[in-house]
Amino acid sequence: MNFSKSKELYNEGLVNLVGAVNSPVRAFASVGGNPLFIKKAKGSRITDVDGNEYLDLVVSYGPMIIGHRHKKVQKAVNKALKNGYSFGASTKNEIKLAKIVCDAFPGMDKVRFVNSGTEAVLSGIRLARAFTGKDKIIKFAGCYHGHQDSLLVAAGSGLATLSLPGSKGVPEGAVKNTLIATYNDLESVKSHFEKHDDIAGVIIEPIGGNMGVVVPQNNFLKELKAYLQSKGALLIADEVMTGFRSTFGGAQEVLGVEADITCLGKVIGGGFPVGAYGARNEIMENVAPLGGMYQAGTLSGNPIAMAGGISTLTELKRQNPYECFDRIGSEMETILKDKAEKYGVDIVVNRFGSMMNPFFTDKPVHNFDDAQTSDTNKFATFFWEMIKNGVFLPPSQFEAWFLNTAISEKDIKIFEKAVDASMKKVAEA
Ligand SMILES: *Cc1c(COP(=O)(O)O)cnc(C)c1O
Repeated sequence: MNFSKSKELYNEGLVNLVGAVNSPVRAFASVGGNPLFIKKAKGSRITDVDGNEYLDLVVSYGPMIIGHRHKKVQKAVNKALKNGYSFGASTKNEIKLAKIVCDAFPGMDKVRFVNSGTEAVLSGIRLARAFTGKDKIIKFAGCYHGHQDSLLVAAGSGLATLSLPGSKGVPEGAVKNTLIATYNDLESVKSHFEKHDDIAGVIIEPIGGNMGVVVPQNNFLKELKAYLQSKGALLIADEVMTGFRSTFGGAQEVLGVEADITCLGKVIGGGFPVGAYGARNEIMENVAPLGGMYQAGTLSGNPIAMAGGISTLTELKRQNPYECFDRIGSEMETILKDKAEKYGVDIVVNRFGSMMNPFFTDKPVHNFDDAQTSDTNKFATFFWEMIKNGVFLPPSQFEAWFLNTAISEKDIKIFEKAVDASMKKVAEA
C-alpha cells in the first residue's frame, strides 16, 4: 500500500498548520507514521489521496451514521444552498430540527442550537450554574466534554492519547470548581458532596466513548440520577457522541434515565457543524432572551447545517437501524475475540450498540485507570495492519469505533480478514 501523496501533503501541511491537522485526534502521534489525507468518501468507504480505499469505522468520529454522502442529505443540502448560506435571522428549519430533537429526548422541552459539541457542553455547564446558583461541577476521569477550560482535566480523547493530565494554558481559577470522580463509582461522587455544598451538577458521558468505550455497570446512571435528585443537583448528560446513536433518543432512552440538561453534537448535524443543549422549560427559561444566562452565536442554526441535520435525522429515524447495529456490532465483537484467541492476544472488547473497541489488556475496563492498562504499542501494531488491510480506524487506543448504516456483509468480510492479519501481527511483534 502506497501512502506517498499523504506523506507529501503532511510535509506541506506542517508549514502553515499545527502538526498538519486541525484537531490533535487526527494526528498519528500514538501510532507512528503520518496522518492519512482523505480525498473523498461514499457510503461505508473512505478513500485517501493515494487512492487507497478503506472500510470507514471512524465516520468523522460519529456524525456520518447513515454513511457518507447519503443521497437524501445531498439533496436537502443542495436545496438549502440555493436560498443562501447564512442570514442572521431565524428560519423555519430551525423550528423543524428543534421539534425532531425535543420529540426524541423527553427531558428537553426547549433546545438551543450551537456550532459544536464543545459549545453545547460549555453552554450546558453555564446553564446548570445559572439555574442552581452553584459553581462546582463534578466530571469523571476519562470523560471528554470538549476543549473548554473548566473541563480540560483528567479528560479522555486526545489528552488520553497524548498522556496529558490536562492542558497547558488553563488557569488554575478555571478548574478550581471542577471536581473529579471515578466512572462506575457512585461513592466517589458522594465523597465530593460530603465535602462541598455548592455543587451545581454532575456531567457524564452516559456511555463513555472517549477513553475507549466504557459502559455503565449495575444501574450506575439510575443510581447517580436518584442520588443527585436527593441533593438538588443536576444531571448533565453529555450525549454529543451517544445522542441519536445509542438509539434515536440517545443513551438516556436505552438506560431509562432522564437527564436535567442534555448536550448534543456529532450525529445531530450529519457531518455539518451543529451542537445543541436543552432541558425542561423551567431550566431553559434561564437562557437569553428569556432569562439572564447569555449565550449567542453568529452562525448558530445555520441553514445549511440545519438542512444536513434534519435530513440525516429523518432518514436515520426511517431506517431505525439500532437492532441491526447491535447484530453487526455483536458479529464484529465476536470476530475480534475469536481472532485474538486464535493468536493468543489478550484483549477486552467493550461495546454498546454501534460503539465499540478492543483494549489490549486482560483486565475488565470499567473506568479510566482500567483503560490505561492497555498496551498501546500493541494497538499501534494492530492499527497499521488494519490500515494495510483496508480498514480505517481512529489512530488511538482511547477512541471508539463507530458503525454506520451503509456497512454491508462484504464490509464485514473485509473486517474479518483484516482483524485476522492484524492479530497475527500483534502476536508476532
Ligand atoms: C466529541 C465530543 C465533544 C466535543 O464535540 P466537538 O464537536 O468536537 O467540539 C464533547 N463531548 C463528547 C462526549 C464528545 O464525544
